[in-house]
Amino acid sequence: MPLTKTTANPKEFFSKIKSYPNKKLGQNFIKDFRIIDHIAQAAELSEEDEVLEIGPGLGALTFALANKAQRVVAIEKDSKLFEHLRELFNDYTNVEFINQDALKTDYGNFYRGSKLKAIANLPYSVSSPVLFKLLEARQYFSSMVLMLQHEVGERITAPPGGKTYGSISVLLQAYCDITSEFRVSPESFWPKPKVDSVVLKFVPLETPRAEISDDRLFEKVVRAAFSSRRKMLGNSLQSGFSKELVVEALNQSGIDSKRRAETLSVEEFAKLTENISVCS
Ligand code: SAM
Repeated sequence: MPLTKTTANPKEFFSKIKSYPNKKLGQNFIKDFRIIDHIAQAAELSEEDEVLEIGPGLGALTFALANKAQRVVAIEKDSKLFEHLRELFNDYTNVEFINQDALKTDYGNFYRGSKLKAIANLPYSVSSPVLFKLLEARQYFSSMVLMLQHEVGERITAPPGGKTYGSISVLLQAYCDITSEFRVSPESFWPKPKVDSVVLKFVPLETPRAEISDDRLFEKVVRAAFSSRRKMLGNSLQSGFSKELVVEALNQSGIDSKRRAETLSVEEFAKLTENISVCS
């Protein structure tokens, strides 16, 4: 089915319903259809694929996904857009829309035995919590191709040692291979966002990059270490653990307590977590 005029032009759609995109819901719609092709290419879609889309909006990306994949489940929080989408995709038997908050949805419910591909132009307001929710449900996904704020993308892919390297970098890099696919300018959306975007591809690893036996403890260690970037590890880790435990675990890991969190690799964070577990 070709794209309808209404879908292709979000501005026209909102003027027709005498409304305006909801800023709180991060409603910036793609108007450059080349971006949609690039996203579909990055996801390497085939006829056997099952896709979870978060925030289908006016369905521009959804059409491309529905024409390429076997099944598409799309979660849209905005009820007005949800109703519009249901009408628009009336003839499509392979697309299911769910009117829900993607932060309150159990993604495992959509798993029918073959792994899903998550694809989304994420609402910026909730991009990090959605990312962490997808990470938790990674056993159901073979890949995730996600458009995010460029600055968030830089933090996610940052190597150790710099200012942009933080807890989000360590927690995602520990469990996924991440590639930066392409940058997108504000001109590609309506309404125009203030900042550039980037499309990242996440491929969950079969086993974490380093040995991590307790995911929750790993997250607690990483978040404590970065709780105060200016502090040395020996101090920042005390926001989550006792002084004795911190001293002992750093010692056992061969990590100098004067180092700062941003200098530790994923592997060093994993080692520190194992020693915190053993020493406590
Ligand atoms: N996919 C469309 C596109 O690329 O043109 C729209 C993307 S727009 C950046 C984000 C979409 O996510 C909006 O349609 C918005 O209503 C929806 N949204 C925002 N918060 C959401 C949430 N918590 N759960 C599900 N959808 C959400």
